[in-house]
Amino acid sequence: MKVLCILYDDPTDGMPSKYALDSIPKLEKYPDGMSLPSPKSIDFNPGDLLGCVSGELGLRKFLEDQGHTLVVTSDKDGDGCKAEIELEDADIVISQPFFPFYLTRKRIESAKNLKMAVTAGIGSDHVDLQAAIDNKIDVVEVTFCNSRSVAEHIVMMILSLVRDYHNQHRIVNEGGWNIADAVKRSYDVEGMHIGTVAAGRIGLDALRKMKPFDVHLHYFDRHRLPESVEQELNLTFHESVESLVGVCDVVTINCPLHPETEHLFDDALISKMKRGAYIVNTARGKICDKDAIARACESGQLSGYAGDVWFPQPAPNDHVWRSMPNHGMTPHTSGTSLSAQARYAAGVREILECFFSGESIRDEYLIVKDGDLAGMGAHSYSKGTATDGSEEAEKYKK
Ligand code: NAD
Repeated sequence: MKVLCILYDDPTDGMPSKYALDSIPKLEKYPDGMSLPSPKSIDFNPGDLLGCVSGELGLRKFLEDQGHTLVVTSDKDGDGCKAEIELEDADIVISQPFFPFYLTRKRIESAKNLKMAVTAGIGSDHVDLQAAIDNKIDVVEVTFCNSRSVAEHIVMMILSLVRDYHNQHRIVNEGGWNIADAVKRSYDVEGMHIGTVAAGRIGLDALRKMKPFDVHLHYFDRHRLPESVEQELNLTFHESVESLVGVCDVVTINCPLHPETEHLFDDALISKMKRGAYIVNTARGKICDKDAIARACESGQLSGYAGDVWFPQPAPNDHVWRSMPNHGMTPHTSGTSLSAQARYAAGVREILECFFSGESIRDEYLIVKDGDLAGMGAHSYSKGTATDGSEEAEKYKK
């Protein structure tokens, strides 16, 4: 079979010959008891860079030993890009949300042999899920692999926005020492109202991680958490997103991107937020209207916006979030730390082992199966597509 894998570019100065750490911690299981990815074996060193082209997710030996073909490329945007050409006779396509190969309806329909799209990570909105349903292409992801990595990033960003870290760091880099400039927008998080839109694996972990800061915790989700969890964390549940944003100083967005959540944070919803609130969005860029966010950062309706997700990706060089005031954006990195890469590379290997041997793939990894939403897809997504406009990724110039 032919496996097409789209990965981000290698480091500009080549693959590391040595890493910052000699090893990464070994985790036993996820907090809800779900087991970590469990392939029969792996051919990579956990802690190495696996998500870039030369890292190949550690898959080449495994695939070629079994007589399969692996094609790896980062050329993924624009008509006639290498990924689009290679897709035409590929059986399996693997892509990471950080550097998504947008599987639009046109591309899915051009891929006559395609059976499965694997997300090396979490979040399969880069696949036109309706087209996958219609064409009976299975879509799977490595549920939980980087959820806690993202929750750590959320905590970092809440603290750095509220305390105004980015401004203070810039002052130091520029050789300055004006303390008043450095603190005139700096507050403590303690006592604030922090709310998450969605309390799935990431949202709930972010709430748990924020609890020791002595804040008031809120959430909105289409599935209510067990009462025991609400009590343990002293959570306030909101029946609507409007109710949540009306009382929170910090709102973190943790739902998947699908037709129900696309452009949820528009001018109308942002105007219902407390003046001067902060948004941390590590879910998907398109859940926010990018121009409405920039306007709110300019006017002061938002005191800051941080996250690592954009639409499309790579973000065009002139994307307004690169230059708006008081932002703490990074490229899409929170779920692709070296620690997370080891987990999702192992998860992809587990999925492929199951696929080739005819064993069933874990239910919790499924998004689309046999022409319908399934597993986590049925729990967390709605039918339809959110890939419209993704062709703009071609505008990014290295
Ligand atoms: P999850 O499936 O455990 O949780 C998703 C939650 O969203 C569920 O509780 C679901 O009920 C809720 N939800 C879905 N639609 C909703 C709606 N319309 N209104 C309210 N709640 C809704 O997934 P997770 O592991 O927590 O990941 C969530 C999302 O975070 C992913 O789908 C992905 O988009 C994003 N993510 C980003 C990164 C990153 O690197 N930045 C990494 C992993 C995941």
